[in-house]
Amino acid sequence: MKVGIIGAAGRMGRILMEATLANPDTELAAAVDVPGSSLIGVDAGELMGQGRLGVTLADNLEQVAGDADVFIDFTVPEATARNVEICRAAGTRLVIGTTGLSADQQAALRDAAEEIAICFAPNYSIGVNLCFKLLETAAQVLGDDVDIEVIEAHHRHKIDAPSGTALRMGEVVAQTLGRDLDQCAVYGREGRTGERDRQTIGFETIRAGDIVGEHTVLFAADGERVEITHKASSRMSFARGAVRAAVWLAEQPKGLFDMQDVLGLAGESAGWGKR
Ligand code: NAD
Repeated sequence: MKVGIIGAAGRMGRILMEATLANPDTELAAAVDVPGSSLIGVDAGELMGQGRLGVTLADNLEQVAGDADVFIDFTVPEATARNVEICRAAGTRLVIGTTGLSADQQAALRDAAEEIAICFAPNYSIGVNLCFKLLETAAQVLGDDVDIEVIEAHHRHKIDAPSGTALRMGEVVAQTLGRDLDQCAVYGREGRTGERDRQTIGFETIRAGDIVGEHTVLFAADGERVEITHKASSRMSFARGAVRAAVWLAEQPKGLFDMQDVLGLAGESAGWGKR
């Protein structure tokens, strides 16, 4: 199966190309990055510090959209929004890892998924997706008797906060408890905040050094607390999952899916594409 990588010169892009080469079911058919990059025209193999692969870094997705069965996009929201329309016009499937998409950009994804198959997940690691399931169970059992906080840490280059994964964790818990995250989320605290309202879900963000990604959801009652934690130590965990999603997506004619669908974990509240 032919895979194209968008944002190929980026931190995730290079590892996604490695993961594509390592998967026996996939071959690297295209690599795209931003126009004006000094790396355009360079062989994809050289980007990864390997020998030549015969795939050169392109700067125009429209020109190569037909070269792959599925494209994997880990870039920035504005680029992803445009790539969705290009893939829709070309009838090409798309796996999206970019985080920080606005509500309007997410609505456009749903719209495009009427015609093409799209997988959109804030986190492609298998462990995080298992955590989404564990969070559902924890929220069901602990209910409204606990204070819930989501704490996340990432490297200093990350440009959005809280992370897409932290927000999804909050959404899974809020949905399970019948709350609307837009209404009950509290982002950071400062000054005279007053006492904590048990109906709120708090988010705290740490940005430091080279932390690949850490998430903890804390359920605290009087006398005990439960913490569900995931720690990523290598970006390869996301890349492997995204390539697995691409292979799965190749069998889907159209629709909006997430990693819960890919892993067969989709339940009532965990699957983004179900809402
Ligand atoms: P990065 O800045 O290292 O790479 C982004 C790449 O996209 C760069 O090479 C940049 O030149 C390229 N780009 C920008 N505009 C483009 C355009 N118009 N066309 C083509 N390429 C373009 O960032 P990163 O650390 O690789 O992260 C990329 C995205 O992936 C972020 O949104 C991050 O939050 C997300 N991410 C998601 C997961 C997940 O599992 N879903 C995991 C890690 C990172």
